Amino acid sequence: MGYDVMFGKTGNTVLGLGNEAIARGALEAGVQFAAAYPGTPSSEILGNLALVSKGLGIYTEWSTNEKVAFEAATAAAWSGLRALASMKQNGLFVVLDSLINVAFSGHGKGGLVLVVADDPLAHSSTTEGDSRPLGNYSDVVVLEPFTHQQAKDIISYAFDLSEKYGLVVLVRETTRLAQSRAPFTLGEVPHPSRKAVFDHSIPLHNLPRPHIRHAELHTRLEEIRKKEFEKSPWNRYTGPRQPSLLIITSGTGWKYANEATQILSTKGVGILALTTLSPLPEKLILKHLKSAKKVLFLEEIDPYLETQIRSLSAGLSKTATPKFYGKLSGHIPSYGECNIDHAIDAISRIQGIKYTPVSRAYAVKAKEAATLAPRRALTFCPGCPHRAAYYSILQAIKKNKGKGFVTGDIGCYSLGAFYHDIMRSQLSMGAGAGLASGFGNLDQFGLDEPVIAVMGDSTFYHACLPALVNIIYTQSKVTSIIFDNRSTAMTGFQPHPGIGIGATGEKVTTVPIENLLKGIGFTEISVIDPFDIEKSIKAVYKAITATTSHAIVFRRECALITNRRLIKSGEPAPRFIVDTDECIGETCKICSVQFNCPACVWDNETSKARIDGVLCNGCGVCVQICPAKAITGVKR
Ligand code: SF4
Ligand code: SF4
Repeated sequence: MGYDVMFGKTGNTVLGLGNEAIARGALEAGVQFAAAYPGTPSSEILGNLALVSKGLGIYTEWSTNEKVAFEAATAAAWSGLRALASMKQNGLFVVLDSLINVAFSGHGKGGLVLVVADDPLAHSSTTEGDSRPLGNYSDVVVLEPFTHQQAKDIISYAFDLSEKYGLVVLVRETTRLAQSRAPFTLGEVPHPSRKAVFDHSIPLHNLPRPHIRHAELHTRLEEIRKKEFEKSPWNRYTGPRQPSLLIITSGTGWKYANEATQILSTKGVGILALTTLSPLPEKLILKHLKSAKKVLFLEEIDPYLETQIRSLSAGLSKTATPKFYGKLSGHIPSYGECNIDHAIDAISRIQGIKYTPVSRAYAVKAKEAATLAPRRALTFCPGCPHRAAYYSILQAIKKNKGKGFVTGDIGCYSLGAFYHDIMRSQLSMGAGAGLASGFGNLDQFGLDEPVIAVMGDSTFYHACLPALVNIIYTQSKVTSIIFDNRSTAMTGFQPHPGIGIGATGEKVTTVPIENLLKGIGFTEISVIDPFDIEKSIKAVYKAITATTSHAIVFRRECALITNRRLIKSGEPAPRFIVDTDECIGETCKICSVQFNCPACVWDNETSKARIDGVLCNGCGVCVQICPAKAITGVKR
């Protein structure tokens, strides 16, 4: 957590994450309301605001999903406060419907800022979405900082703009900025004292003539373009008046452009770093286009600037139009994350400079080194309740003569895709239940395999409820399994409505999963400890062979939370050992291969199983599944 950043004194220079800089920027902007749904790479923004929120009278919440977070923030802005919603790029997809509506309707007199963290290369995502074209499409203002200092400072500017023009301002960042540390200097934190007032004079709807609102919106965006962005100090040009190559960039591309030109010692290159991305400062861009014969676009994910600026150049005469390079010309890869080597490669090709990127030699060495490292599978932690639950699902399917398949979605239980290949789908949040709802109604067309929808606890509240209602409503034959590990574990153990804890650790109302299932209309609901293997297999088998829809809640807290608690209490988890005389060896391997716990290792010398006491989390599941009763618990 960024204690130095959030509690640091005015004037201090601190080393912090980009997300911490944004959280601090929100404090300095006088934010009073902040809502988010956790998602890497954005989670630290709300996590850090929650650290200081009680002391400063700021309201913070982990909302049930991103759309709700944005709508809750809109309510606060409508009531005159400064409100911020933050999320990862997938969250923006969920928000779009409301975002476009709020862009049309306006949001009252308060400031409304939406921070979206994009994830080039999908380090912790399933897609590489780019929020810039979506912001542009939604008719909201889009800004993108290119340094940590800017990331902090731009939040105040974003709120000022939002309040002055009554527009939503989207601040885009990418993983490299969000998750890297760099120095920045802290500003003053005000003590905002605005009172929330419900303003009856400003209705938040677009009726009866949405197109009129649309026209007004375009007028305001045009005003921002002319009055604010054409001469904005947030956009920066460095280089000669007539560069031999003009690099147009945004976000982290600015750093790559600078570093690449330094490494290549190339003279005459100009760099236009744009922060105001929608609406674009067209006059400023055209002025620079006219000054260059060659233009390279360096930007993360989509060729957003490239396509916008290429079409803008259509108004230039043929002789004044430069030659364009970027993702569309193949000089920069059209997918994945931009890096210094991409920049060096493109500049040296365009400028005819001979240079071998360090990465080529490095890649050869790295490949050699990789052969020396022990191989690690992508799998659940030792003692993870999800492994036990999947093992039981697998056994139930086997018992059902191999008939049955699993649809799932996003969360740490997504690793089921690597666990005996059991999870067959992994799309968006809640999509596993939605797909299952469809599969469960295909029996009339001959589909005779039971479908099992798995979902995490946080995902259950986020996006599964409508699909579960659909399952009941359409009488779809589905087994719905909720992996309740008592937290949003994958993104850093944020709380959710099922555990009765709020964003600042305060006690709040619990919304139990089983109560919601009952309310929806499920009549067969079991709550089971997944570490009870026999009971779990029985429950799943009963559900997949039944003629009605069953719901099973596998409830057991994440092994990492248990571990931390046990370490704090000074009572370590029990330790397990294999009695090698009892272990039946090669013909079995149930613990190490089938159950696949990383702590159950195979000893090639003895041809028997062995438990690695350092890795073992003491869940005791291997004791239950060992057919020879060769595993026993001992005191640590
Ligand atoms: S070795 Fe056994 S007790 Fe230890 S974590 Fe693995 S399954 Fe659980
Ligand atoms: S499950 Fe039991 S018998 Fe089988 S390999 Fe493991 S320890 Fe040996």
